[in-house]
Amino acid sequence: MRLRADPVQGVVRLGLPARGGAAAAAQLLADHQGWLCNQVARWPAPLPFVPGAAIPFDGGTLHLEWAPNNARTPRREGDLLFVGGPQSMLAGRALRWLKAAALAELTDATHRYAAMVARPVAQVRVADPRARWGSCATTAGRIAYSWRLILAPPMVRNNVVAHEVAHLVHPNHGPQFHALLRQLDPNERAARAWLKAHGAGLHWVGREEPGPQAPDPGR
Ligand SMILES: [Zn+2]
Repeated sequence: MRLRADPVQGVVRLGLPARGGAAAAAQLLADHQGWLCNQVARWPAPLPFVPGAAIPFDGGTLHLEWAPNNARTPRREGDLLFVGGPQSMLAGRALRWLKAAALAELTDATHRYAAMVARPVAQVRVADPRARWGSCATTAGRIAYSWRLILAPPMVRNNVVAHEVAHLVHPNHGPQFHALLRQLDPNERAARAWLKAHGAGLHWVGREEPGPQAPDPGR
């Protein structure tokens, strides 16, 4: 039986054996109630794309400046992202703009690092995976990233890119892979630490729902 509080999706999972186990599950929950409350209380808050929202972006903050008369195509000026049109379209427009910005940045960085290892890149794309920040199909030369990396500082993003590009040479996580990664990017430790501390929060950016209600922590 396995109990897990997932800070990325904001769900609690309890794995049960195929037959029975309800009583044992209730006992497990009771035994771990304090732990569970603590975990859930630490989940990030949703950060919906609403007027005035402050979105983490590229190591800084991007403020959503919405007004119906602004141009409908988002336009960035420094820390401000101007978006117009109906407010109901704001979230979708902001999301598309962020994904396009992510793709442009990540494509650039990927080609930069791939040139260092002299490997061709057939395709770079962005998606919204929950479990990983990047993936690489070594022989096909295709690399995919989480678009949410544009919300992270460049140091973090570049480390993920260096990691995936190193997979163009070594498909595994063996010593040669790590030697190459260290050569490509010296910030492995800092980048991993940042993602461990803040990675889950990036998955709450653009979330509309307030998330599952956290239980009252033990009072
Ligand atoms: Zn890897």
